[in-house]
Amino acid sequence: MTDCIFCKIINQEIPSYKVYEDDKVYAFLDITQVTKGHTLLVPKEHVTDIFEYEPTLAGEVFARVPKVARALEKAFPEMQGLNIINNNKELAYQSVFHSHIHLIPRYGESDDFSIHFGNNQAAYSSESMQEIAEKIMKQVEQ
Ligand code: 5GP
Ligand code: ZN
Repeated sequence: MTDCIFCKIINQEIPSYKVYEDDKVYAFLDITQVTKGHTLLVPKEHVTDIFEYEPTLAGEVFARVPKVARALEKAFPEMQGLNIINNNKELAYQSVFHSHIHLIPRYGESDDFSIHFGNNQAAYSSESMQEIAEKIMKQVEQ
């Protein structure tokens, strides 16, 4: 895609700090470095977000996540954890519309990454949980 910053990075039209590349994916340092080693893994094929992936491409991209994760762990033995994040659409914090997976190494509670998981368990009866699960299940592609 001509007007996509990540396509331009993949095509070497703009510079990046490359971490890994093969025929299917490109991985490079996120410019903001939320924590040291913060890496983006992207498919070379332009897909906007998770909703656009064909199964084959999804398999190719997600199969490479552990490879980059292990490289980070070996590169930074002081690493204590790793958050893997994939934002889809603006409300969910997607700001670059070429699908990408964030790998964010964690070094301690006071590193510069945080995430909030609310707990709304009390608001859902077992009946409503069952109803929600069935509603989703009906839509899963066979
Ligand atoms: P999103 O918010 O879409 O999940 O993540 C997009 C990420 O791309 C952000 O973390 C941002 O720092 C990163 N980013 C945006 N422009 C560039 C760029 O030109 N180079 C690099 N290396 N990262 C970028
Ligand atoms: Zn693109």
